[in-house]
Amino acid sequence: KKRPYRWQRVLLKVSGEALAGDHIQNIDPKITMSIAREVASVTKLGVEVAIVVGGGNIFRGASWAGSSGLDRSSADYIGMLATVMNAIFLQATMESIGIPTRVQTAFRMSEVAEPYIRRRAVRHLEKGRVVIFAAGTGNPFFTTDTAAALRCAEILLKSGMVLFNAEVVLKATNVDGVYDDDPRTNPNARLLENLTYQEVTSKDLSVMDMTAITLCQENNIPVVVFNLTKTGNIAKAITGEKVGTLIGG
Ligand code: UDP
Repeated sequence: KKRPYRWQRVLLKVSGEALAGDHIQNIDPKITMSIAREVASVTKLGVEVAIVVGGGNIFRGASWAGSSGLDRSSADYIGMLATVMNAIFLQATMESIGIPTRVQTAFRMSEVAEPYIRRRAVRHLEKGRVVIFAAGTGNPFFTTDTAAALRCAEILLKSGMVLFNAEVVLKATNVDGVYDDDPRTNPNARLLENLTYQEVTSKDLSVMDMTAITLCQENNIPVVVFNLTKTGNIAKAITGEKVGTLIGG
C-alpha cells in the first residue's frame, strides 16, 4: 500500500513549556485545544499519532533536587507524575472533540490510565486511536525527550528504514526550529533547516539532551523541531510538509 504521506506513524513530543504558553496557570487550554484540533485533522487522513508529554510546566526534577534538599530520584518521580497530569488534560481535551485517546503510563496507575504495553499501544494506533505516553520512561535521571525517542523506536512500523521513509520524532517547541545562536538574544541568529545528528552533538546545539539524540541516531529516527504556537504547524509536521528543522543521517 502506498503511503499517502511522508510519515505513516509519528511520535509527537509536546513539552510542558509548550503546553503552558504564556498562561498564568500551568496549562493553557487554548493550546491543548489547538493541538487536539490539528491532531484530529491528520488522524482523519489516516496518519497514526502517538504523543509524549513533558512536565516542565509543573515540575522539573533536576532544578528542585539541587535547591530543596530533595534527592534526585524523588524529585524525578514527582516530575514524572507531573507529565501524567498533562497527559490526562490533553486526553480529556482530545476526547471532548471526539478523538478516541488512550493514556499509557510508564509506571502503574491503573485507576487513572492503562499501563504501558507496547503491543497494546500499537494496536490502539492501528485502530486510529491517539496514544499519549505519560510518566516519561518511568525512570529517574531521564527526560521526556528520551522517552519520546524510546517510544518512537519501540513503535516503528519497520526497523532499518531509510531517512524520509521512517517514522519520526516531531518535537514541538516555542521557537521555529534550531538556530545557530539563541534567537531570543541574537536577532541575527539563523534558522538551520537541515542538520545531521553529528552536527547537533558536536556543536552542542540545544535540541534534545544527548541521551535522546543518540537514541534517535542509533535507530535512524529523524527528528523535526518546529514551532507549535503557529497555527497549522502541527498538522504540517505530522503530514511531513517542510517545517522547522529536520535532523537526520
Ligand atoms: N522525568 C524523569 N524520567 C523520565 C522523564 C521525565 O525522571 O523518563 C522527570 C524529570 O524530573 C523531568 C520531569 O519529569 O524534569 C518533567 O519532564 P521533562 O523535563 O522532560 O519535561 P519537558 O521539559 O518536556 O516539559
